Amino acid sequence: MSYSMAYDVIIIGGGQAGLALEFSLKQKNIPFVILDENEQTGMSWRKRYDSLRLFTPRSYSQLHGFYLKGDPKGFPDNNEIADYLAAFKIQNELPVHREKVIKLTQNERKQFLVTTPNKMYTAKQVVIATGAFHNPFVPNVQEGTAGFEIHASKYQNPSQIPNGNVLIVGAGNTGVQIAAELSKTHQVTLSQSNPMKHVPQNIAGRSLFWLLETFLIGRAKADSFIGKMLREREPLIGNDYKTVQNNVEIGDRLKEIKDDNAYFNNGISKQVQNVIWTTGYRNDYSWIQIDGILNGHGELLHHFGVTNVAGLYFIGLSWQSRRSSALIYGVSDDANYIAKKIQ
Ligand SMILES: Cc1cc2nc3c(=O)[nH]c(=O)nc-3n(C[C@H](O)[C@H](O)[C@H](O)COP(=O)(O)OP(=O)(O)OC[C@H]3O[C@@H](n4cnc5c(N)ncnc54)[C@H](O)[C@@H]3O)c2cc1C
Repeated sequence: MSYSMAYDVIIIGGGQAGLALEFSLKQKNIPFVILDENEQTGMSWRKRYDSLRLFTPRSYSQLHGFYLKGDPKGFPDNNEIADYLAAFKIQNELPVHREKVIKLTQNERKQFLVTTPNKMYTAKQVVIATGAFHNPFVPNVQEGTAGFEIHASKYQNPSQIPNGNVLIVGAGNTGVQIAAELSKTHQVTLSQSNPMKHVPQNIAGRSLFWLLETFLIGRAKADSFIGKMLREREPLIGNDYKTVQNNVEIGDRLKEIKDDNAYFNNGISKQVQNVIWTTGYRNDYSWIQIDGILNGHGELLHHFGVTNVAGLYFIGLSWQSRRSSALIYGVSDDANYIAKKIQ
């Protein structure tokens, strides 16, 4: 292993959160380096399914106010955002080293040691920007699999799914979008745990996000009364169960899959050939070998991204400081906050 030079600040992850922070640090003349395992900027967006349309309009899909071309009220697709992030990086001259971090530890002098397959970096401060939607989660409810199964993070388009019926497990925003698309080519059952409240993308000609910001709901802090209430009631934005219910069978919560049959909580069972898990993501912090960052339930201990370990921060977490923290338009505020803490 070759040792590299010491840095003041290392950011791990160069998606929108890492880039937003780079921008904030650069404005404060704080030296840093950013490490990202992807071969290109914007890859997390580019790898998502082909028909993905953002639920945030273009005017609410921008970093640090950097202009995203196109109708501001229109909804961009994933490649547009990937191109936008690549342009943001170039225009603001934000360097990214293409390396995967495999371990983060501290030495006896409390310096951070950042290990990649070929190098070890040292840093006084580290920010983790590896994404809230990085590690696909599949519930442990299977004994014997259906013919074909895939997590939504690997789903691209209907041509990938073999003939036969499809069970989509999880009726959140992604589940409903994929169900709408697949219902044109396959017989689809959408398994739903708790129906989510639907919110349209535009209300009385105004963007939902404009209304949320104007009425300060979008600004509600994660630890405020409104923030806690909103957290428990994440809505379906845009696509509604009604958009799919004519072509898609809405099933109850999935209990188990056994011998090619899906069993639902309401006692109904159904033979299934294909399964798509739209069951979300979980964080994996096993590569961070530093005491005191997690509680007894494996949850991150932090306040607005500042951890209990001096010099260690996160950015891009779901509800890091408010609802918009893990969204493109919200991460810049958090980046400015973390940059100030680093300074
Ligand atoms: C299906 C879907 C739809 C969404 N729609 C919207 C929307 O409409 N509007 C909106 O604002 N937001 C949306 N989001 C949420 C959010 O904007 C995206 O998830 C966004 O990609 C988060 O950016 P990020 O930088 O935090 O994480 P990511 O984009 O995941 O970037 C993290 C980066 O860290 C790198 N990395 C991870 N681990 C390591 C490691 N160990 N070493 C080095 N590098 C590493 C990865 O290569 C990646 O480049 C959506 C998310 C999903 C999943």
